[in-house]
Amino acid sequence: MNSIAKDLLVTRPRARRSLLLWAVILAPMVFVSCSDDSGPAEIVAPSRSLVTLRVRVHLLSSEFQPLSTELTEDEVATVFGRVNAIWQQALIRWEIESILREDALNADAFAAMLNGQIPFSDNVIASVLPRENLLSGEWDVFLILSLEGIAGGIYFSGIPAALSAELDPDGQRQLTRATARILAHELGHSLSLPHVPCTPAGNLMSPGCAAADRTRLTDAQVEAARRQALTGHPFGSGLAFN
Ligand SMILES: [Zn+2]
Repeated sequence: MNSIAKDLLVTRPRARRSLLLWAVILAPMVFVSCSDDSGPAEIVAPSRSLVTLRVRVHLLSSEFQPLSTELTEDEVATVFGRVNAIWQQALIRWEIESILREDALNADAFAAMLNGQIPFSDNVIASVLPRENLLSGEWDVFLILSLEGIAGGIYFSGIPAALSAELDPDGQRQLTRATARILAHELGHSLSLPHVPCTPAGNLMSPGCAAADRTRLTDAQVEAARRQALTGHPFGSGLAFN
């Protein structure tokens, strides 16, 4: 017996009782793990429940082609299937409440911005979004064809709503890849997550980084996103839109 164990057993009777108690508690666990060759005893993580968030999808149309999505309802479901696969790591999923087709507003200003006639502006982009049919207080996602390299998507916390494009900034249509990843990123903003720096491992909230996995989230991001999700409202929903 080493001196530390001896010290516990000989000089601290209370500790000895405690050791005996642990021996009684641990004995069945040792037995279980020894009696099963299939591997170590299963470690049960603290249980977390799936958080389901409703989202209304607004498919925009316009005579200005970049504002006019070509996505069908089935394709929207395909994109959200991948978005939900990405957010499964946080046990968060979006359930499509409805899909609406609406006309984009203010297409002339949007076109002027894409053509470089007026400066890039979040306000101009926000001005194309019709507001009559928002699922206010829950999630609204607007989909257009293309932001033509300006961005993959944008989250407007003041509305609140996410805008995402069917084509990625390179003009590619990859619904279960870039399209879904960019939308999943914008929804990350809607769950309070800011951008994080590029790392070789990659992160959903590191846009434009070459990385092994551009969809992963850290434990801290999962915690923050779940805190927001459990409120039932997107981040910034209390702000007035200007
Ligand atoms: Zn972002």
